[in-house]
Amino acid sequence: MAVPAAPAPPATEQPEFLESCDPATGDVIARFRATPVAALPEIFARAHRAQQAWAKVPLRERCRLLGRLRDVLFDRRGELADVVTRESGKPRVEALLTDVFLALDAADYYARRAPQLLRPERVPHHSLGAQGKRGWVHYEPFGVLGVISPWNYPFSIPMGQIIPAVAAGNAVVLKPSELTPWCGALVGEVFANAGFPADLVQVVQGSGALGAAMIELSGTDRPGAGVDKVLFTGSVATGRRVAQACAQRLIPCLLELGGKDALLVLADAPLENAARAAVWGSFMNCGQTCISVERVYVEDAVADRFIARCVELTRQLRLGHGLDPQTDIGPLIHERQLEKVEAQLQDAVARGARILIGGVRRPDLGPRFLEPAVVERVDHSMRLMQEETFGPVLPICRVRDAEQAVALANDSSFALAASVWTRDRRRGRQLAAPLRAGAVMVNDVASYYGICEAPHGGRGASGWGRTHGRLGLLELVHPKYVDVDYLSWWPKAWWYGYNQTLLLAAERFVEFLLAPTRQQRWRAARGALAMLPFRRPGVR
Ligand code: NAD
Repeated sequence: MAVPAAPAPPATEQPEFLESCDPATGDVIARFRATPVAALPEIFARAHRAQQAWAKVPLRERCRLLGRLRDVLFDRRGELADVVTRESGKPRVEALLTDVFLALDAADYYARRAPQLLRPERVPHHSLGAQGKRGWVHYEPFGVLGVISPWNYPFSIPMGQIIPAVAAGNAVVLKPSELTPWCGALVGEVFANAGFPADLVQVVQGSGALGAAMIELSGTDRPGAGVDKVLFTGSVATGRRVAQACAQRLIPCLLELGGKDALLVLADAPLENAARAAVWGSFMNCGQTCISVERVYVEDAVADRFIARCVELTRQLRLGHGLDPQTDIGPLIHERQLEKVEAQLQDAVARGARILIGGVRRPDLGPRFLEPAVVERVDHSMRLMQEETFGPVLPICRVRDAEQAVALANDSSFALAASVWTRDRRRGRQLAAPLRAGAVMVNDVASYYGICEAPHGGRGASGWGRTHGRLGLLELVHPKYVDVDYLSWWPKAWWYGYNQTLLLAAERFVEFLLAPTRQQRWRAARGALAMLPFRRPGVR
């Protein structure tokens, strides 16, 4: 079912200061001076100068600095996790694993593997290679990348894009979310600590208006003035605006947008683990994860047991401040988000859904706490099953069989990730094929995002392009084909000097290479040999 194209609210005006708030208490914990839009031209000019120098630094040396970055991240890991928790509200264990560790691991991965991944690649030739030439694909940096990030993984998302970007020889201007400026500032700080050149990774602070201004400044008619490519992670509505602005200026963009990930529970699933995965996958980071479990389709035969277990597990969860090690679930990021989730729940109930547990505010804990909810009797007429739910809600839908589960999972404009739970691993892999998603996990959820080699990205309303792994790295470079001919003195047969003989030779050549039967190919070869030499150097 298609989600109507929601118009994005216009990017808000750029304020003078950004306040970093603890979402658990609503208290302001830090203030940052916003970057004036007027400062952008100078910032980008510096970025372009830094990039040109950086591109000349040997890849091994760039990777050595990435190794230093890994060490800085390791040394500062505790402090980084604290800031992520205080600014985004997520439990500290999640901040450590899903923000700090992912960045650390990415630095380690690209420090070790980038030389191999970015090595010029020999291109084996299919037919013209017979003409005495060799070819390679060289990977060149894009230039200056504009990274525009969301608040939900305020450290790992930008780091996961910037690390491979600088490995590939790019400079970056990062605009973090206005809700998490502190984490954004830390991104700039750790690159400086590691000894990366000044201006190679710059952080600008501001609202959506600043992100829009970064793109407005750019264009193919203004090389060196703004971004050469935009890496955008955020909502569908903003993604649409970014894509439009980039299209007008003919700038490429990568879009990592929302998700509505389905989890399929087959009758032979390891039920206890499937229930645990559904609960964790749906509620981690308070459900504010692009690849969180947003819909469960469970086969009738095991539905009662599965649902009962999900409710039981949900009842055991503890809400609280993320800095308390006992906390499983923190607050939502802001009041607007809470209201959106409540509206989806109300709409679902009005259409016949039943909330089995949760879904109520907990003002006793703080202004933005919502009890995690398990909802059944849901169908696709409900907003809860169509729109992205950025909150702790687990809607469960009973299905006849796996085929119906796949059909319903695919009935969405989003296509980011999905998971299948079954003891039959082969069947699980087979079911991955018809599922419309950028990633399918069999018997696990979401953890592929932490596998450096695994590409991440979606299709449809979930965006386009990939981050992470080799495919993600290729988004950050211009592939350049370089061809070397070893017969420099020999004029090519197809050059000027067209005549009847050349035409006949060309016909034999095509037949020799591509005629369907071996007999035809031999006949063509004999015909061509009989015509030799049809062209000699310097002879017309
Ligand atoms: P958002 O779209 O509101 O904002 C994202 C970023 O875009 C922010 O930095 C914001 O300031 C900036 N922005 C706003 N208007 C802009 C404009 N006109 N031009 C340029 N930049 C502009 O998203 P959010 O609320 O910060 O993040 C939540 C969304 O991000 C969810 O939909 C979630 O699914 C998605 N997300 C996707 C992935 C993924 O990998 N696919 C990962 C994390 C989050």
